[in-house]
Amino acid sequence: MKTCTSISGGQSSAYIAAKYPTDYNVFALVTVRDKDCAPKDKGLIKLVSDKIGRDFIGTLEDDIIIHTILDLEQHIGSKIDWVVGKHFEDLRKTSVPNIMWRYCTELMKIKPMFKWWQENFSEPIQMNIGFRAGEDKRAKNMLDRCNEDGLRAYNKVYWQKPHFPMIEDNVHRDKVVNYWRGKDVRFAVQNNCVGCFHRNPLTLRKMFDLHPEKMEWFIKEEIKKDARFKSDISYADIKKHKPQHEIDFDDWSCDSGYCGL
Ligand code: SF4
Repeated sequence: MKTCTSISGGQSSAYIAAKYPTDYNVFALVTVRDKDCAPKDKGLIKLVSDKIGRDFIGTLEDDIIIHTILDLEQHIGSKIDWVVGKHFEDLRKTSVPNIMWRYCTELMKIKPMFKWWQENFSEPIQMNIGFRAGEDKRAKNMLDRCNEDGLRAYNKVYWQKPHFPMIEDNVHRDKVVNYWRGKDVRFAVQNNCVGCFHRNPLTLRKMFDLHPEKMEWFIKEEIKKDARFKSDISYADIKKHKPQHEIDFDDWSCDSGYCGL
């Protein structure tokens, strides 16, 4: 069975890419058609356009994540394939995703990886996922959705066998952080879309300071779709709050195994 690493831009999936080399590496980038979310470094536009095979306009992920993937490719000495889904604005006409209905992960991370697999393989592949020691419950959740051969389906097609090398080898977060200390790979302070609705309002408020244009996208999208990413508060209200104190960012990641890690 061919092997592949699902890379997210976080330190854990980068760690498995470095320490457990696979035949392939794949990264799914969240894209938007809003020019205000274009990378500050304009040189990245052409570079990412070439990687994704279409015009790159902007992303809701921290620009540093683009550098992470480019640096990581050099660090591991093998190619990372970039995939993209529809632009975030185009996923649905009249709704935005939320914690209960997280279709953004599915349509912009899992589906593009599945299509990449369809274009390149005729057999299922083993997919290394960056869950760490202590995250057994998340791995179990994923395995519970697999068939008796340990294969996971997308649209009823069994295409990948999830594999968790860091759980097998008892690798905890400290080991991952230590590994990357002083290395030539840049990482964002927080991984994933800067305004991800999984984040608490305090963290999101801080993100308005760090990534004002990208955070405005969430406000514009709520207004345009007349819908909310978070049931209890709008992003416009989050922006109005005065930051109370400095926030220690923890590394959040969702259970999909594709956002975060
Ligand atoms: S990081 Fe959050 S907003 Fe972005 S695709 Fe994942 S779940 Fe959706």
